[in-house]
Amino acid sequence: MACKSNKPRGLLLAISGPSGVGKTTITRELERRLDGVFSVSATTRPRAPGEVDGRDYHFLTERQFEDMVDRGAFLEHAQVYSKHRYGTPREPVERHLAQGRLVLLDIDVQGAILVRQTMSEALMCFILPPNDEELLLRLRQRGRESEAAIRRRFDEAKHEIELGMRSGVYDAQIVNDDLPQAIDEVCRLVQQRRATEKS
Ligand code: 5GP
Repeated sequence: MACKSNKPRGLLLAISGPSGVGKTTITRELERRLDGVFSVSATTRPRAPGEVDGRDYHFLTERQFEDMVDRGAFLEHAQVYSKHRYGTPREPVERHLAQGRLVLLDIDVQGAILVRQTMSEALMCFILPPNDEELLLRLRQRGRESEAAIRRRFDEAKHEIELGMRSGVYDAQIVNDDLPQAIDEVCRLVQQRRATEKS
């Protein structure tokens, strides 16, 4: 007879999608609703106004980041939009999974591909905007950048969508037309996955 441990198995949930699609809001709401743990990434990009070190990101120098790469301290890491580096610290993810927790990652497509290779059982969702016009509008509404920077973000976002659709690593593609509905959809997928793992 197969031996079943009573301990719940953890679940790794990766959320990807282009800038402006609502990933951060979705991920943080899922963390709250599903009693999950958000994995705080490390990055070499400068801290933006309002961001808190250790809460939004661990802001590192290039050297500190490289040192973590050398120590194998990242579950995955990537250079995003050919600029700054981003990585998922391995230790907290493994610790929380071992405790049976739901761990949430907000990562780009390159990172998702790497996670899929090492953690094949991860649940991976790609969030899409309803259409190009809406995506552009949302990027503008963030009010953080110049029009030229917004246009650049828009082109990058379209490229990210193309990559994501072609990658074949996502279990689900969710259109964020209506935020509460998109969140419900991911919750449903998590519950479905947990139910199949129990059976
Ligand atoms: P931002 O600089 O706007 O916060 O994030 C830029 C992009 O980097 C987003 O697409 C975000 O999902 C991605 N990102 C954030 N953390 C990580 C990470 O740890 N690994 C990877 N591969 N991408 C990340």
